Amino acid sequence: MALRPYIVGNWKMNGTRATLAEARAIDRAAARHPAVDVALAPPFTLIQAMAEAVQDIGVGGQDCHARANGAFTGDISAAMLLDSGARFTIVGHSERRSLHGEDDAVVRAKAEAAQAAGLSVIVCVGETEAERDSGQAEAVVAGQLDGSLPRGDNAAASLAVAYEPVWAIGTGRVPSVADVGAMHRAVRARLVAVYGEAGAGVRILYGGSVNAANAGELLAADEVSGALVGGASLTAESFSAIIAAAATLAA
Ligand code: PEP
Repeated sequence: MALRPYIVGNWKMNGTRATLAEARAIDRAAARHPAVDVALAPPFTLIQAMAEAVQDIGVGGQDCHARANGAFTGDISAAMLLDSGARFTIVGHSERRSLHGEDDAVVRAKAEAAQAAGLSVIVCVGETEAERDSGQAEAVVAGQLDGSLPRGDNAAASLAVAYEPVWAIGTGRVPSVADVGAMHRAVRARLVAVYGEAGAGVRILYGGSVNAANAGELLAADEVSGALVGGASLTAESFSAIIAAAATLAA
C-alpha cells in the first residue's frame, strides 16, 4: 500500500449508547496498529458520545447538509458535525444517492461545505450492476468523480474517495481483485487529472462486502489505500481483523 492505510466503518442506522462498548474495543484494536488510520461513522446521535469515548480512532458523520443552517428539518450541517466531535464526513454514499435522490451536484456541494467547515471528506462513487454488465462501470465512476469531487484550493488535502460498487454493498458479493485494481487505477487517473500532483496523495478506499476473510486480498489490490466497511464494522471482532489485515500490508 503506497499511502497510509485508512480503514473506516460506516455504522449506517445502527447503534445506541449500549454499542459504544464496541467502539471502545475497536479503539483499543486501533491502538495496537499505529500504522493504520482507523475511523468510525456512527449515526448522528452517537457522534459526541463516541468522540468522548475513544482516543485512537477518528469519529465522523455519514452525511451533512450543504448549507450551514436554516429551515431544513431533520438535517445536520457540517459545522454541527464538527461541533459534536466529528472530524470527517462521508458524502454521496449510494444509499444517499438512491434513497434520498442526491445527485453529483448535491454531493459536491456537501463535500465543499464540509471542507469549508473544517472536516475532511470521503466522497463515495460506484456503479450499479446493470452499469457494470453493460461495460459502463469506469465511465459512470469517472462521471461521478467529475461531478462530485470538491474543488478549490487544497481540496485534495482533506479528501478520500471510496469506490463502492452498488451491487457489492451489503450483498456478500465482491468484484475480482483485478477489477478492483482496474477501477482504482482509473479513479487515480481522474484524481490526478482534477487535482494535478495532489491527486496522487488522495486515498482511495474500496467498499462493498469487505470482511475479515476477504480484506487481505482486497486491500492488496492496485491503488487500494483502505476500506469503507459497513456490516463488518459493527463488531470489534470483525472490524479488528480488517484493521489487522491493513497493518500487515503496511508493514
Ligand atoms: C457501505 O455501506 O459503505 C458498505 C460498504 O457496506 P457493506 O460493507 O456492508 O457492504
